[in-house]
Amino acid sequence: MLILNGKEVAKEVRSSLAPRVVSFMKETGRTPHLSVVIVGDDSASHIYVKNKKIACEAVGMSSTIHALPHNTTQQELNDKITQLNNDETVDGILVQLPLPSHLNTDEVLRLLSPAKDADGLTFNSLGHFFAGKPLVKPCTPEGVMTMLKHYGISPEGMRAVVVGRSNIVGKPMAQLLIEANATVTVCHSRTKNLSEFTRHGDLVVVAAGKAGLLGKEDFKRDAIVIDVGMHRDGGKLRGDVRFEEINGWVKAATPVPGGVGPMTIATLLQNTCLLAETRAGLR
Ligand code: NAD
Repeated sequence: MLILNGKEVAKEVRSSLAPRVVSFMKETGRTPHLSVVIVGDDSASHIYVKNKKIACEAVGMSSTIHALPHNTTQQELNDKITQLNNDETVDGILVQLPLPSHLNTDEVLRLLSPAKDADGLTFNSLGHFFAGKPLVKPCTPEGVMTMLKHYGISPEGMRAVVVGRSNIVGKPMAQLLIEANATVTVCHSRTKNLSEFTRHGDLVVVAAGKAGLLGKEDFKRDAIVIDVGMHRDGGKLRGDVRFEEINGWVKAATPVPGGVGPMTIATLLQNTCLLAETRAGLR
């Protein structure tokens, strides 16, 4: 079985960004800058945010974390977004989701400037994306596409099954696979007999957010399985797929950790670089 090594592919993506960062600096006298806003004290989210900052700095970009307390009001959060929207030295803004339940995510996604939307999740960015005219593409699905391309896997003509229909992963993943000429089925929490669908998939992308949901019996022998799920189990990270069961059974699969996660971060850097270059008139 081919293990789709996101860590390695992400390294390649980052290497390809380094010279772009250098040219941007030569042209503008500053580094591309990503601002990350996080509200509350969820420890896993803080780890993700810190990893994003480290990844930025590793390619010569800069990054600031704006950590706001759990009791931040909607107005205070909106003010922070507006301030970053207006800050000429900020190229990309990412609001770490999910926000605490008293805050309105939709309001934030309407307010955030599409020109700085590094995650590609504002309504404006998603509108462009689904119309086939993307500003940037949502990080996780685009990271999956980059990984497939790296391994020479073309979805064209494949029967692709996406498990999950969120705006962050499932829906944009389905869209990118359609654009890549796959025939796509989207499954979700109300799908009956999920396994009947996944078992026919040549390519199955699992983003249900349910630890260990699918195993060997849910995939055919020559399937390509992409596990987007991410669950902290004590100190260990697990996916939506029982990797140990499918290892050696299917044709190719991503591990967790070391699969989709690093690709998401690499794509975030790519998006930030693209937004910085666009705003500076360099593309
Ligand atoms: P979400 O909760 O917003 O969406 C989950 C989707 O799965 C929903 O559309 C739901 O209908 C569907 N679903 C839930 N239970 C199901 C079931 N039993 N059968 C079929 N469908 C089911 O989650 P999300 O933001 O899309 O994220 C999904 C998972 O991916 C989470 O584990 C999240 O942590 C992870 N994630 C990982 C990365 C990464 O970089 N690796 C990035 C984003 C999200």
